[in-house]
Amino acid sequence: MTPGALLEKLVATPSVSTEEGAIADFLQDLLVSHGAQVHRQGHNLWFEVGEGGSRLLLNTHLDTVPPCAGWQGDPFAPQWTNGRLHGLGANDAKGCLAAMTMTAIHLLEWKPAQGTAIFAFTAEEEIGGQGIATILDQLGPLDGAIVGEPTNLQVCAAQRGMLMLRCTAKGDAAHAAHAHALGAVNAIHRAARDIAKLDALRFEPHPLLGETRAQVTTIAGGKARNQVPDACEFFVDLRTTPNLDHAALTSSIAQELESDTAIHSARYPPKATDPAHPLVRAALAAAGRKGPVGSNTTSDWAYLGDLPAVKIGPGDTHRSHRADEYLTLAELEAGLAFYSALVPAFLKEAVHA
Ligand SMILES: [Zn+2]
Repeated sequence: MTPGALLEKLVATPSVSTEEGAIADFLQDLLVSHGAQVHRQGHNLWFEVGEGGSRLLLNTHLDTVPPCAGWQGDPFAPQWTNGRLHGLGANDAKGCLAAMTMTAIHLLEWKPAQGTAIFAFTAEEEIGGQGIATILDQLGPLDGAIVGEPTNLQVCAAQRGMLMLRCTAKGDAAHAAHAHALGAVNAIHRAARDIAKLDALRFEPHPLLGETRAQVTTIAGGKARNQVPDACEFFVDLRTTPNLDHAALTSSIAQELESDTAIHSARYPPKATDPAHPLVRAALAAAGRKGPVGSNTTSDWAYLGDLPAVKIGPGDTHRSHRADEYLTLAELEAGLAFYSALVPAFLKEAVHA
């Protein structure tokens, strides 16, 4: 099967998050037919190629977001037009999946000279569910990871996290007509003062990712148009950089605000790998790049703990989660060439590091 035909087959197999069964079945059969011993848990697949030595994980996701409005054709009926394959998931991340699968097939035929590649094609990345985090402890010891996401084959060595805060401003319920005389505190006014402070907050920039800004994303308060509200709740979304610790950041923000401030979600920590790490150096060499970049979006890298990792793959993140998503055949072939060069290069370099 050519890389283009594989990508077309993957896009033609719908795999919206939680519905990855059919694509997992297809890949499992394909890889078993090439001699892989494939493990499966739910809709997650993993297998090893090679023996001993350093152990490099190659991970990407099987799932896609649901189709959005505005598609010109059927998002599940891939079409090649002028060297581009349009279809849901073509870019995010079935191009990475096709390139990693072809890399695995080549390695199954021509075992790596040293070291072991562990491939994990996992579910529910887009919803942070039953995916890589649920199988990580079954993959054995790991020395590094490549996370396949569309980065235009730029070597991403830092990734933003996400910290979601829930803030509750308290006040005193009172008739609007009597509120001033009673000295009643208006919870919405209190929230407004805090929101102005949040808008003005500035943090130390990260060298690859730049600044973090607090974004208030939802707000709810007040029950009647003639009553001073006793509560106002709002959520704050912070796309954090690796120089900002979530717990320390939360307590410093909480000290600034009049509202009660609690962590609503901190499951996506920011990530970074030292640019001097052998994995980053090997990835830069294989991609022909001078230096690493940072990425604003989170990914399954967030679940890999302290494992050194780079996020890299064919395609462009700006095409993801949009109508008429596509990948070009040239991008797919470059992705395959990149992973095929990086795996043996890292496994060799890691031995000598
Ligand atoms: Zn993705």
